[in-house]
Amino acid sequence: MKIRSKLAWTYIILLIIGIITISAYSILTIRSFLLDEGIEQFERDALSMSLAASSFDDNALFDDKITRLAQLSKYEIAVYNNEGYRFLTFPDYAFEDVMEVLSTNLLQKLEQQDGSPIIENSEQSEKLVAYVDLGRSNNQAQYLRISQDKSQYYAAVASIRHIIYAGMIFSIGAVIIVSFLFARYMAAPIMKLDEAANDISRGNLDREIDLNRNDEFGTLADSLNHMARTLRADNDKLKRLNEKQSQFFADITHEVRNPLHTISGAMEMLELEQLPAEKKKQYMATAQKQIKRVARLFEDIKTLQRYDFDESFINREPFDLKMIVDEVETVYYPLAEKKGLELHTKNITPCTVDADPDKIEQVLDNLVSNAIKYTLEGSIELGFNFLDGEVEVYVEDTGPGIGSEHLERLFDRFYRTDKARSRDKGGTGLGLSVVKGILKAHQSDIKVESEEGKGSRFYFKLPILNKKD
Ligand code: ADP
Repeated sequence: MKIRSKLAWTYIILLIIGIITISAYSILTIRSFLLDEGIEQFERDALSMSLAASSFDDNALFDDKITRLAQLSKYEIAVYNNEGYRFLTFPDYAFEDVMEVLSTNLLQKLEQQDGSPIIENSEQSEKLVAYVDLGRSNNQAQYLRISQDKSQYYAAVASIRHIIYAGMIFSIGAVIIVSFLFARYMAAPIMKLDEAANDISRGNLDREIDLNRNDEFGTLADSLNHMARTLRADNDKLKRLNEKQSQFFADITHEVRNPLHTISGAMEMLELEQLPAEKKKQYMATAQKQIKRVARLFEDIKTLQRYDFDESFINREPFDLKMIVDEVETVYYPLAEKKGLELHTKNITPCTVDADPDKIEQVLDNLVSNAIKYTLEGSIELGFNFLDGEVEVYVEDTGPGIGSEHLERLFDRFYRTDKARSRDKGGTGLGLSVVKGILKAHQSDIKVESEEGKGSRFYFKLPILNKKD
């Protein structure tokens, strides 16, 4: 059974029970009210009739007068003498089952009554009965018995009952219609939510539930929408990650294949016996260069993989940034000089930073080696700019610069502005992504300003612990 039918039938059953209970209670209350009213009226009438009967002292016409009184009042009347024997009844058939003599017990009670009627209303009897002492001494008519069927009083209940039954049927009809409409209204959001939850479980995450309600159903719909949105975002993220991963592996294969071809070519040449010694040296150098490139490639991949799985893979410690810069300068100065470039530093003052010294050295290493690699003439400047609580480290060159169309993707893995030139210079295409990964782990970022034909300026910031002026 659907929730809508369940709700509807629950309302219907509960309301029908309510309607029947109220109707039955009303009928019983009205019935007992009418009987109480009837008894009061009966008591008053019995008293009036006893007064009337006690005034009938003409013995010859007594019977006629009593009969007339019974006819007019529509009550059944019997008259008893002072010993309790019945001598007159009207109508006769009403007294066929009634004892002709009054019990001594009743006679005693009547004597004590002082003219007021004794009312008998037993559950078993269908009649209301009143006995009255007429209080006479010179007449044989001493006691009066007045009775009436109780059904008289319930006659009104019968017509009221019909009205109540009609009302009951009308209410039940209305209850059925209203219950179904109400159940539909109540069940509509549940059914919508159920549909949506089924859709989500089947993987259809694009749907939005629009209930437009401010109650708990509205809150539930919002939660489901939120859940679907989160799942959608996670799904997209997974898809992108998957694509990125596939692309990454394709790039690695490509990057490894090239140097392997070159190495294999060099090996074949080296196998030639008549190859001059100078050529042999040249091929050996080529093979070694490519082996170094593959080694660097795997080193970079390792760093990036570590960064992917653990963004905080760095070991922070306070150290003097100047010392690292000095080391880098010492290593790269001869290389720059060999290429006819001037490598100089600016504003390099001792300052302590809280970072991973090896990783920061790797960052400077990559930036300075790129600058030397891509600059054909001019100079490279490595310097500090002191800002509010931070030091900006920059590497500036007078190289070819980078077109603005490349800047957005420059730090992506394997992205190169000029693939052939990069490979030719032993580049892996991972240097800048490694720089970005390391700085991100330090809650910092690498920035670049570049103009084609003029040069490039790569820079990043680190918070200073203290600085000597
Ligand atoms: P690669 O191993 O190719 O140098 P990187 O990630 O270090 O890889 O650099 C990505 C690309 O950015 C390089 O291929 C190069 O085209 C460009 N690039 C990096 N540094 C410079 C620079 N100082 N001057 C000009 N181009 C640069």
